[in-house]
Amino acid sequence: MKHTPEPSTADLDFFFDEGHHAIAEKAAHFASKWAFDDQRDEDEATLKAVSELTDAGLTQYCVPERFGGAAIGRPDGLDTRALTLIRESLGWSDALLDTAFAMQGLGSYPITLAGTTDQKETYLPAVLSGRSLGAFALTEPNAGSDVASMSCLAEASGDSYIINGQKTYISNAGIAGQYVLFAKTAPDQGRRGMSAFIIEPNDPGLSVDRFEVIAPHPIGTLIFDNCRIPKNRLLGQEGDGFKIAMGTLDVFRTTVAGAAIGMAQRALDEGLHRALERTQFGKPIFEQQQIMAYLADSATDLTAARLLVFRAAYRRDLSTDRVSAEVAMGKLFATESAQRIIDRAVQIFGGLGVTRGVTVERLYREIRALRIYEGTSEIQKVVIGAHLRKLAASTD
Ligand SMILES: Cc1cc2nc3c(=O)[nH]c(=O)nc-3n(C[C@H](O)[C@H](O)[C@H](O)COP(=O)(O)OP(=O)(O)OC[C@H]3O[C@@H](n4cnc5c(N)ncnc54)[C@H](O)[C@@H]3O)c2cc1C
Repeated sequence: MKHTPEPSTADLDFFFDEGHHAIAEKAAHFASKWAFDDQRDEDEATLKAVSELTDAGLTQYCVPERFGGAAIGRPDGLDTRALTLIRESLGWSDALLDTAFAMQGLGSYPITLAGTTDQKETYLPAVLSGRSLGAFALTEPNAGSDVASMSCLAEASGDSYIINGQKTYISNAGIAGQYVLFAKTAPDQGRRGMSAFIIEPNDPGLSVDRFEVIAPHPIGTLIFDNCRIPKNRLLGQEGDGFKIAMGTLDVFRTTVAGAAIGMAQRALDEGLHRALERTQFGKPIFEQQQIMAYLADSATDLTAARLLVFRAAYRRDLSTDRVSAEVAMGKLFATESAQRIIDRAVQIFGGLGVTRGVTVERLYREIRALRIYEGTSEIQKVVIGAHLRKLAASTD
C-alpha cells in the first residue's frame, strides 16, 4: 500500500508550473513523515503542527511574497494551486494538521488584503515565523450561512471600539495569537454595515468557551462583553467587512476542496488494499463485482473532483474573470464525493471500518465538517444557481 500521498500534479500536468511540482513534492514528503497520534491533546498537536509546517517552509505560502511569504505566482496575491496542493497532502495525512495549516492563511489573509503597513508589519511576521496562530471569526449562534444577519456590534467610542456579541465555531479559539473579527458598525445596513477588526487574545472583555466536534479540532465560542480595542485595529474602512470576508473565502474555499481530495485518495488506497487482501467465499472480495464497482465509482469520483478543483484553482490564479461558480462547483463536488468515497471504503472494510484506530473510521469523522464550513454544500448550490441565472439573463 502507498505510504505517501499522490499529489494531483502527477496526472494534471497542464494546470501546473514547475514550482507547483516542487511544492507538491515537499508537502507530500512532509505529510508522509507526520506521525498521527489519536491520543494527543489537540491544542498541543496544533501548536506542534504549526511549528513543523513553518520549519518545513510550507506556511510561507499563506502570505504573499510581497509581504514576506514564498515566491510563487503573483507577488501580491496567494497562489491557489500551491495552497490547494499543500492541503491535498496534509488532508491525506491528518485533518488536524490540515486545519493548522489552513488557519495560518485564513486568519492572516484579511490582514494581507486590507491591513495598513503597520498592521501588516505587526501581525504577518508573527504568522510567518509560527509565533502566532491565526483565526477567522465570522459565524455567530444566529448567523451562519446568512452572514449579513450577524448581530455582533462594534461601537466607536473616542479612540476605541467597544465590542459586544458572540462568534461561534471559531477554529483556533483559545490558542490564536490574533483573531480577525467581523462585526457590525452600522447594524441597519446589512452586509454594508459589516466591518473587520483585529482582536488580540488579551483584549479586555474577551473570553473563550471551548467545545468538541466530531473529529479533533481546536474550536470554540468567542464572547465579547464590552471588549475594548484601539481604533487602529479596524481593517480597511468601516463597511469593508463583507468584501474582506468574501475575498478571503474566495481563495480558501478551493483549498478546502484540496483537503477533501487528499482524504478521498487515502480512503480509495485503503479500500483497494483491503479489497485485494481480504478473502471471503474463497477469493479476494475485490473479485466481487459489487466491491469492484465501489472502487470504480470512487476512482471516477476522485478523478472528476481533481479536474474540477484544479481547473477552478488554475482559473483563479490566471484569469481576471470572476470564478465564484467554478470554485463553488469544486468545493461542492470534492467534499460531497470525498464523503461518498470514504463511506464506500468503510463499507469495504466491513466491521473493521467502524473500529476506532482504523484509518477509514477516522477519515469518516474527519471529512464531515468540510461539507459544512466555508459555505455549506447547499450554499455552494445557491452560488452556482445565481451564476446560471446571470448567464441566462445575459443571453436573453
Ligand atoms: C469544524 C468547523 C470549523 C469551523 N470553523 C469556523 C471558523 O474558523 N470561523 C467561522 O467563522 N466559522 C467556522 N465554522 C462555521 C461554519 O462556517 C458554519 O457552520 C457554516 O457556515 C454553516 O452555518 P450554520 O452552522 O449556522 O448552519 P445554518 O446556516 O444554520 O444552516 C443549517 C442548514 O440550512 C441550510 N441552509 C441555510 N441557508 C440556506 C439556503 N439559503 N439555501 C439552502 N440551504 C440553506 C445549510 O446549508 C445547512 O444545511 C466552522 C464550522 C465547523 C463545523
